[in-house]
Amino acid sequence: MSQVNLEIGRILIVDDNPNNLKVLSGVLRSTGWEILVATDGEGAIEQAEYSQPDIMLLDVMMPGMDGFETCQRLKTQRGIADIPVIFMTSLSDTVDKVKGFSVGAVDYITKPFEQEEVVARVRAHLKIRNLTKQVQVQNEQLQTLTQTLEQRVVTRTSELSNALSELQQAQAQLLQREAKLEYDAFHDSLTGLPNRAWLMNQLQYLTRLTSHNEDFHYAVLFADLDHFKVVNDSLGHLAGDQLLKGVAQRLQVLFTQKATVARFGGDEFVILVEDIEGVKEAIGLAVYIQEQLKLPFKLDTHEVFVGVSVGITLSSRDYAHPEDALRDADAALYQAKKQGRGCYALFNPAIRNLAITRMQLEGDLRKAVANLERPIAPPEFCLHYQPIVSLATGRIAGFEALLRWSHASGQTIPPNQFISIAEETGLINPLGSWVLREACQQMHQWHQQFASNPGWTINVNVSPIQLRQANLAQQIADTLEETGLATHHLKLELTESCLLETNGFEAATLEQLEVLGIKLCIDDFGTGYSSLSRLHDLPIATLKIDYSFVSRIDSERDSIEVIQAIVALAQSLGMDTVAEGIEILTQQAKLGDMGCEFGQGYLFSRPLSSLVATQLLCQEVQALCLGTGR
Ligand code: C2E
Ligand code: MG
Ligand code: MG
Repeated sequence: MSQVNLEIGRILIVDDNPNNLKVLSGVLRSTGWEILVATDGEGAIEQAEYSQPDIMLLDVMMPGMDGFETCQRLKTQRGIADIPVIFMTSLSDTVDKVKGFSVGAVDYITKPFEQEEVVARVRAHLKIRNLTKQVQVQNEQLQTLTQTLEQRVVTRTSELSNALSELQQAQAQLLQREAKLEYDAFHDSLTGLPNRAWLMNQLQYLTRLTSHNEDFHYAVLFADLDHFKVVNDSLGHLAGDQLLKGVAQRLQVLFTQKATVARFGGDEFVILVEDIEGVKEAIGLAVYIQEQLKLPFKLDTHEVFVGVSVGITLSSRDYAHPEDALRDADAALYQAKKQGRGCYALFNPAIRNLAITRMQLEGDLRKAVANLERPIAPPEFCLHYQPIVSLATGRIAGFEALLRWSHASGQTIPPNQFISIAEETGLINPLGSWVLREACQQMHQWHQQFASNPGWTINVNVSPIQLRQANLAQQIADTLEETGLATHHLKLELTESCLLETNGFEAATLEQLEVLGIKLCIDDFGTGYSSLSRLHDLPIATLKIDYSFVSRIDSERDSIEVIQAIVALAQSLGMDTVAEGIEILTQQAKLGDMGCEFGQGYLFSRPLSSLVATQLLCQEVQALCLGTGR
């Protein structure tokens, strides 16, 4: 702060006596002060307002407004109230002095003036006045500074609190994001159910719990929707998703604190039941789930029914890893599916052995099929041929090619033990191609070997999975060309399921086969749910009456009626019929009487190796030449 000279100042002298004014002005001016004068109270106040003196020397006794009143007025007026007033009074007048202080004076000087005293008093008051002013200025500065500081504190505090709340918000968002990430990591986005990762964690926890606590048991129920693929293929993936959501919803509401349902993947759900009391409770749950899913699901305009197969396993201290329990529940599920859809199966060690056997078989099948494509050893597969015979003449009309697997172990594995594995793994496609080529080649060879043949046909079984190959028709056309077999000597045996709602590929393939002129045969007819309208639309030449009707022909009236209906249907559609599994003469006779044209079965011949079939054809041709019947 700059140093101010405390002794300079402006002094207003108020006195009605010009002489006094003159003397005092002279004395004080000579000291270096600026001197202003007024001769009465009114003039003094005006002058004070105008010139803002630092000190006022005010005479008490003045005509009109005396010094006291002037001082009182001064003290009430803003801007000049703080001007220190020194009264001038006569030496003897003590009352004046006291009154002077009471109206606001700071001092007094007595007349007649003692010059040095006047100067000293004025100087002292000037100093005080200047100091006071300085202090006032400093106070004001301090106040401004304090206010600025306070303002800054307020601003800073609000900035800080804003920053803090932003930080808190960011932290909350981060926590939310973290929580969402964690939720997403453990939940399935489609159904909202816990996902596989959650399941594995939970199973890990339960596995540990079981190893420490003998009394704690849990169950794993592995549920898989039956024919979910049909919904996906026929109604589209959106409908499939809708169905999965619906299933998830129904499963979710079933469960309590003890049980949780997780989506394992695709149409597979796993239900974990903690603290289970026993097998009965687990089975009860499986049945309950099946009951709940039995009710139809509404998908847009469609009502869809889904069954569910359930594999169950109960906790075991042998389960060291979560995968162990899942593996066994899955093996039980596989078993449930084999029993027919909509079943449940409880895991037992025999099932594990079956699963292991199946796994080994799958591995061996992969190798055997791979070997067909890059032969490094003789093929493990061969075809056997079963004659299809005219029931009227007893003559061979053709053969059905039936696949045989001579497993490396020396065992012959029948098709019903490996075709389903081939279908599940997709191996049926390369395997089916091989069967087709082999069968066509063989039939062409027989046609060449026996020139007088009556046009034998070869029936080849085609799996529904093969039909899904977009290039199947082309593959067949190529095989016919390569092997030299005429198109009309080949018949494809399809199961009825191929004629149900089919997806784009299958329908297109069937149309292409029709264009190629390849005849189709419906295998095991009567056991499925053929769409009769499709029978009419497709190039179907033959219905093969299923073995189950033929075998009961003598014992059950219903079977006869079914066969009669099938024959009548075939005749009305211009198709012929082959009865499968004829084992005895009476069956042959009855089928012949009912108008069935052809038969196949042990009565005529078992499926034969190509060598034995060739010998049979030799005899057949000789008999034909001799014109003898059978
Ligand atoms: P399928 O096409 O209905 O074949 C007829 C089955 O009945 C054959 O069994 C045959 O040996 C058997 N069979 C014939 N006559 C009689 C009889 O009088 N009595 C009895 N009990 N059975 C008789 P196989 O060879 O075991 O074949 C079973 C099934 O495996 C076939 O049923 C067919 O669905 C499938 N299969 C066989 N070979 C192939 C193939 O190359 N490809 C495909 N996709 N499936 C095949
Ligand atoms: Mg067949
Ligand atoms: Mg059959």
